[in-house]
Amino acid sequence: MEENFEERIIETIQKSKSRLSEENRAKLNELELFKNKVPYQILNGWTDLVYELGKNIEELCKLASCELPQIEHIKSKYASLRFDYYFNSSVPRIVEKLIDSLIYEAEDKSERICEYCGADGELREVKSGSWRLVSCDKCAKEKDLKCKM
Ligand SMILES: [Zn+2]
Repeated sequence: MEENFEERIIETIQKSKSRLSEENRAKLNELELFKNKVPYQILNGWTDLVYELGKNIEELCKLASCELPQIEHIKSKYASLRFDYYFNSSVPRIVEKLIDSLIYEAEDKSERICEYCGADGELREVKSGSWRLVSCDKCAKEKDLKCKM
């Protein structure tokens, strides 16, 4: 009984991982970099973070007169943002280095932003311990996550 309940919570969270509201999806798709070609696997709380990152990458590529990179995935993994990209043609090494540092900065920030609502959050886990994410106190309570690891 207890085990089934935990399984259901994990399933719900995993499903919702791939769900971003239409409004937030539209906001991200405003960027040329993402425009209807990225399968977002994040929750609503990271929309602004990902938008800001995408915008910075776009501006950097514009300054450097480079093509925009292709985005492989944008997802939450082990309670941290994962943002993978590649270039179809070769670009100056410094451009890749700068993009990597922008991504690194966003990944670092993501570990303190609630994945559900964007408020200040911290690492939580589903009661069985098999799933981790970043959540604020309010959302953790609502979703019945184990608080403060
Ligand atoms: Zn929250």
